[in-house]
Amino acid sequence: MRASRLVLAAALGLCLFTTGPLSGATAGAQSPLPTPEQFFGFRVGADTKLARWDRIVEYFRLVEGASNRVRVRELGKSTEGNPFVLLEIASPETLKRLDYYRGLQRRLYLQDGEPTAAQRDEIFQSGKAVVLVTCSMHASEVGATQMTLELAHRLATDASPRVTHVLDNVIFLLVPSLNPDGQIMVVDWYNKNLGTEFEGSPMPWLYQKYVGHDNNRDMYMFTQVESQLTAKLLWHDWFPSVWLDEHQQGMTGSRIFVMPATDPINPNVHPLIYRWNGLFGQAQGAALEAAGKDGIIYNSTYTNFWQGAMAWSGWWHNQVGLLTELASVRIASPTEQQRAQLGRPPAPATEGGRGGGRGGDAGRGPLPAPTDVMPRTEYPRPWLGGRWTLRDIVDYELVATMATLEYAADRRETLLRQIYDVNRATVEAGKKGDPSAIVIGADAQADPLAAYRLVGRLQLGGVRVYRAEAAFRADDKDYPAGTFVVPMAQVFARYAKDLLEKQTYPEVRRAPNAPPEAPYDVTAWSLGLLLGVDVAFVKKPLADGLALTAVPPSPKRGGDVSGSGTVFSFDYTGPEGAIAVNRLLKAGASLSVARAAGTGGGAGTEVAVSGVPLSTLREVSAALGLRTRAAARRANVPAAAIKAPRIGVYQPWTASMDEGWTRWVLEQHEFPYTTLHNADIRAARLRDRFDVVVFADQQPASIVSGNESATTRPEYRGGIGEEGVSALKAFVGAGGTLVMLGNACDLAIERFPLPVKNLKRGLTRDQHFAPGTIVTVEVDPAHPLGAGVAASTYGFYNNSPFFALTEGFASQQVSVVARYPNTGVVASGWLRGEEQMAGRAAVVSVDLNPGRIVLFGLRPQHRAQTQATFPMLFNALYLAAGH
Ligand SMILES: [Zn+2]
Repeated sequence: MRASRLVLAAALGLCLFTTGPLSGATAGAQSPLPTPEQFFGFRVGADTKLARWDRIVEYFRLVEGASNRVRVRELGKSTEGNPFVLLEIASPETLKRLDYYRGLQRRLYLQDGEPTAAQRDEIFQSGKAVVLVTCSMHASEVGATQMTLELAHRLATDASPRVTHVLDNVIFLLVPSLNPDGQIMVVDWYNKNLGTEFEGSPMPWLYQKYVGHDNNRDMYMFTQVESQLTAKLLWHDWFPSVWLDEHQQGMTGSRIFVMPATDPINPNVHPLIYRWNGLFGQAQGAALEAAGKDGIIYNSTYTNFWQGAMAWSGWWHNQVGLLTELASVRIASPTEQQRAQLGRPPAPATEGGRGGGRGGDAGRGPLPAPTDVMPRTEYPRPWLGGRWTLRDIVDYELVATMATLEYAADRRETLLRQIYDVNRATVEAGKKGDPSAIVIGADAQADPLAAYRLVGRLQLGGVRVYRAEAAFRADDKDYPAGTFVVPMAQVFARYAKDLLEKQTYPEVRRAPNAPPEAPYDVTAWSLGLLLGVDVAFVKKPLADGLALTAVPPSPKRGGDVSGSGTVFSFDYTGPEGAIAVNRLLKAGASLSVARAAGTGGGAGTEVAVSGVPLSTLREVSAALGLRTRAAARRANVPAAAIKAPRIGVYQPWTASMDEGWTRWVLEQHEFPYTTLHNADIRAARLRDRFDVVVFADQQPASIVSGNESATTRPEYRGGIGEEGVSALKAFVGAGGTLVMLGNACDLAIERFPLPVKNLKRGLTRDQHFAPGTIVTVEVDPAHPLGAGVAASTYGFYNNSPFFALTEGFASQQVSVVARYPNTGVVASGWLRGEEQMAGRAAVVSVDLNPGRIVLFGLRPQHRAQTQATFPMLFNALYLAAGH
């Protein structure tokens, strides 16, 4: 890092800045620092101009080299290998003793034991307000990352009392991009189309390799590198007290959303956090009003309830978590909007306008006039239309970010004292009990390895997990030695509780007689259910003498091979079983699957392996935690051979997140696959190349017709077309398997057709609605697709199909793999019209002789969170190769 800084400084001296002084006052500067405008050759936020990530990082290195107020740290690499960068910004005196201040902050969050009274007072007197700002995780929301260039320059060079006050009282942690890969993709895509009829059009692929816009739905499962790096920064490294995450919203409404968000609230967040969310949001709003800015709104759209979104995950960690949402432009191209009159909403369907979207819609002509034009407490000066530019976004974000820093500086000691009080109160509440602890059986689960996975996720979220050294009794129940214990007497107990309990969505009515409002987003994230792990809440305090040992990060169960012989077997109880199968297939083993012969753990399904040496089994078992048995000969039970499936995954040009998550899940479980685009589907002889083709959740019309917008580049227009539908029929006719996920099921049901009715179709939102709910499912463990899944388990449901069987052709054999129970469909979260689903089929296999179509109404791999149902998807792939 130091060497490269010297190289950069040399380059700077040679070619850029031999022509004199740069930015006015340079009290903090050690050598002249170019302004962003001098460095990039345009003013930040200028129409159609975007700085690219490689050059942005280069500029920050210059800032670091020129200023003793800024340090640049590379926290790691992004998914595609770009630097994931943190700037630490404070006064030079603070930066010299950064580890000391980090220690105080850790103590504020009770990371190093109980502080003494003197240590506590030292935090209040000497500690800094540690503020994290994260930018542009949704990469098409480009403004915040661009803004950080001017912000960093200002904080590095400005000698004004205001900036000095901030630097003296705040440690400012700045992540200029939570998604560097996407920043590069969006900038390159924008520049490619600049000046053409496609300027500002959306990218036809995801702006993060696997998850795209869903990257802010990952802050409890932490599947992606970017989420993991952020979690480590938050709950293992710096423990910031305030975290602001900067986004952009649609184009036509308010100009900026600031906190507080709207009802409902979550019962596990301490009320103080909601108060500080409001204080900081209002400090931003006040600064924007003082600067004469229009269109500032709060208490709108975004609810105070749900887990998984970026900065909001701080709330359960007693961190102030803030969101700003700026009105978008078309990436970097300005928008014009028709004007409205204050207090007089325009008539609907204004001429010539185009809809909202986050910088996505590249429509021409002015946007329709704003419709929300009534001044009120939350929105005293509504936006009335006109021109809006990237520079406007940058200006608003500069004001809001500086206001956040200034407010933190002004309120430093109060913030530290109150956060400390809440941290202490959280621990004290846990000592009293109800609950006092959450216990997770280590080996007693239907899928024993799932408990280890669950513990690893909790730990990444900062939760401390222990193992009981001896058997114990709690709330009149016995638990064996080795049980995982999450004591509630810890600072992040609120987070652990919220993640592990069942969610109840609070009813929100804006007036006593108004109907309850439907949720804004998912309503359930109970991690135990999603992973198929039983967790128990202990009410009474644990026994004093109970010895607990801290669990090392990401614990693994030991795996081994017992017995002797050349035929091996292991229980197939979950996702690790599929990884083992795939590794052994790759190693040339011959494998078969059978209902268990009685030697296993009673889980029901057993994989038999032969043709590879003991050493291979030892290696695979140790790596994956499998307890493998060796025997002289194979048990005499009917078994089906397992072969490696040749998998194609359809990728539309509509940037499908579910397709990305599907790829992610397949890669993590070591299934090789080929991505198929429209032309590949239409190409002849699909069956020669593939055993199975997977369609992720997508509406049938979108699969067939794709994106036909005039602003889409011609090479990305259209879908598989009628020709593609015919090719799929030929594929199945030749023995191929189609796996249809979510709404893609309708394509098969309608076009083949299949003797299955999608009951979700035709139901109104008043009859049935589920924006994201965990449901109970009953799985047929004797069905080949049910292997490795518990007979009663939990799945994720999100407004996708559920089925009834109908009369079909005699050649079509339909079997139900999984169905919803007759009562108690909802396991966690909110769902309207539960009775519509009772007893209905969730997963159906249609044997078409020789081909097969598997319909997953339930979302078996949703956001890579639904691990309990992964095996059903994997089994469908294996079964395809067995044909
Ligand atoms: Zn966003």
